[in-house]
Amino acid sequence: MSDSPPYLLPALAELGDRPAVLFGDRELSYRELAAAAQAVSTRVSSAERVAVWATSTLETVVGVVGALLAGVPVVPLNPRAGERELLHILADADPDLVLHGAGDDLPAAVRERPGFLVDPSVRDVPGAATPIAEPAPESPAVIVYTSGTTGPPKGVVLPRRAIATNLDALAQAWKWTGDDVVAHALPLFHVHGLILGVLGPLRRGGTVYHLGRLSAAAVAQALRGRATVLFGVPTMYHRLAEEATADPAIAQALAGARLLVSGSAALAEVDHERIAKATGQRVVERYGLTETVMNCAVRADGERRAGTVGLPLDGVEIKLVDDDGQAILASDDETIGEIAVRGPNLFLGYLNRPDATAEVMRDGWFHTGDLATRAADGYLRIVGRRATDLIKSGGFKIGAGEIENVLLEHPGVAEAAVTGAPDPDLGERVVAWIVPAEGRRPEPDELAERVARQLTPHKRPREFHYLDRLPRNDMGKVMKRALRRPEAGDEV
Ligand code: ATP
Repeated sequence: MSDSPPYLLPALAELGDRPAVLFGDRELSYRELAAAAQAVSTRVSSAERVAVWATSTLETVVGVVGALLAGVPVVPLNPRAGERELLHILADADPDLVLHGAGDDLPAAVRERPGFLVDPSVRDVPGAATPIAEPAPESPAVIVYTSGTTGPPKGVVLPRRAIATNLDALAQAWKWTGDDVVAHALPLFHVHGLILGVLGPLRRGGTVYHLGRLSAAAVAQALRGRATVLFGVPTMYHRLAEEATADPAIAQALAGARLLVSGSAALAEVDHERIAKATGQRVVERYGLTETVMNCAVRADGERRAGTVGLPLDGVEIKLVDDDGQAILASDDETIGEIAVRGPNLFLGYLNRPDATAEVMRDGWFHTGDLATRAADGYLRIVGRRATDLIKSGGFKIGAGEIENVLLEHPGVAEAAVTGAPDPDLGERVVAWIVPAEGRRPEPDELAERVARQLTPHKRPREFHYLDRLPRNDMGKVMKRALRRPEAGDEV
């Protein structure tokens, strides 16, 4: 098939018996997916907007594809969302229908809405052969709610153009073709799992291989079998780093992958190096947001440098701006700026929130709130988020990420997060939140010394908290705002 199908999705039925989606022992060929999705499409075609109860199942894939075929914007709902969040999203998006599977345990808030049962086993739909007119590139395709690490969830309206062009740019960056089988265990209500992990392979006529629950054994089995590419978040690669170091069979399976890709949060440099050491493979990082899909990525044939997210994707412009919004021209791997993005990958705006859209979209540039440095060769290194990861201490601007990386290199540290706290002398002081490795409890002085020695003395954490685990969201991202509560750990 051609590299860039004219439709957001290729003509599914024409791909016949090629495997489209694998979920454990459930499997749909393209022909089967086309038929099951057509049944959904026929039912939803008159709706203005639909939601999908986005469990990690075939039903979700069929529901989303059906809505896309009909040109009806689809809102994936996180089945683990609390009632308050669900009520907010349902009121905000106001879907005409909620698509769901037969076995779903729907909460009352969802049951009150008209539902439609998605049946992946439907094979014979009258009118299935009717060609569907491709909706306009600017029409809304998917509305993804932000996970709310920085406020109440907002509906990010992604047009077909953003998804299609971005998936093509990723395909080019990663030499991603219809022969690739993409394995992952990501949830299907965010950009990573749904757009990259499901629509990505389908746009290429390739295969989605969803692992269900994540385990190193399942990853290894998939890679020994049909999978060629693995998509994951840093918490997953952290586990794989441990298991691959301990078990040569896991290491060997990972070594056989064409590409190991990480995103959604920063991959700790120590995990990148441990995986490289155990498997000979360096993980490829990419960086994006719900509002922009993906912005940059390390190329399949590019240098894979720990802690970096590579170069802007084709067609995507990136600039770093200072506090006054002025472009930073330095490429010295030192000067920190906020990432602003322009290109065909941008969203249309937040649903019902022109105020919030205007805050982030200025002169055609989307302001990400993420901070980065740029190396001489253009490689970007994400420092963290301006709101939670930039610490202004003693006149210095300190990024939390590099301190976290140093702390994580200590064998007694399993997890680490760094925040700033108000300080009468320094303005803000560096605070470290440590999850010790089993049976260990490294001393604050030792950790502080390590940071001072490896970075600079002013980056030394002044306060340490020890916890059993860090608060994380569904994507494994540390919820730093939750760390700011004084009761979150024992102060030292
Ligand atoms: P909210 O927007 O509600 O705060 P969120 O943090 O989950 O929710 P997403 O759009 O899902 O928002 O995630 C985008 C963010 O993830 C980016 O702004 C960036 O901070 C982070 N991120 C994504 N990829 C990487 C990466 N490779 N390295 C570092 N950070 C990353």
